Amino acid sequence: MMKSERDLRQAIIDKCRWMNATGLNQGTSGNISLRHKDAMLITPSGIPYDVMTPEMIVEMPLDGEEGAYHGTLRPSTEWRFHLDILRARSDVGGIVHAHSPYATTLAIARRGIPACHYMIAAFGGSDIRCAGYARFGSKELSRLALAALEGRNGCLLANHGMIAAGPTLDRAMWLAVELETIARQYYLSLLIGGPVVLTEAEIAETREGFATYGQVEPPTPTRPKAARAGARSRPTEPRTN
Ligand code: 13P
Ligand code: ZN
Repeated sequence: MMKSERDLRQAIIDKCRWMNATGLNQGTSGNISLRHKDAMLITPSGIPYDVMTPEMIVEMPLDGEEGAYHGTLRPSTEWRFHLDILRARSDVGGIVHAHSPYATTLAIARRGIPACHYMIAAFGGSDIRCAGYARFGSKELSRLALAALEGRNGCLLANHGMIAAGPTLDRAMWLAVELETIARQYYLSLLIGGPVVLTEAEIAETREGFATYGQVEPPTPTRPKAARAGARSRPTEPRTN
């Protein structure tokens, strides 16, 4: 069913509250956006998520004048990288930026994440890059983030936090949780001597496995099940929401 714009605005707020309630983010740090028609809906800057209402979500045209927006509140200071990602990446429909504890710890040390766990393949390659440092909200940060996201659905931001981008906002949040989980696992593995890193071939093999992971097609009661691995060829990643 098509969601109304109000539903989408509410979904952004629900996700913001959820990421703070679960400890993925804290305070007014972080921000969330999604693609809606030829515009971006994004959280306003500096408003606590528990008082945020759908009317406060800011709309920015994807092809508007520099910084143009509709709304009574100013958009997130990070509107540039949200807008630039949506403009550059037609595969992206939702973006989560969070200052999650472990991803941010690695970003403070300016360490990207190697293929220490097969789930890294869900991000499109065999690593998660850490973008160089630039001031929050700057054009330069947007440029660096876009470069770190090349061929990837997630990256770290030096001395700052992380970005996860997916075809939907649900998927972007799922990726944000996965990124934080891998960051925690990588950090912990460093404490016991460091990870054994998977090879490119092992990551490529994982991506193939994702194509048939989970319920790749919705179950229909009348259709006989195809149980053979690889029987369905639709090239999707694991469905999670
Ligand atoms: P905003 O409140 O302006 O979205 O800023 C939070 C943040 O994380 C800046 O990087
Ligand atoms: Zn931030």
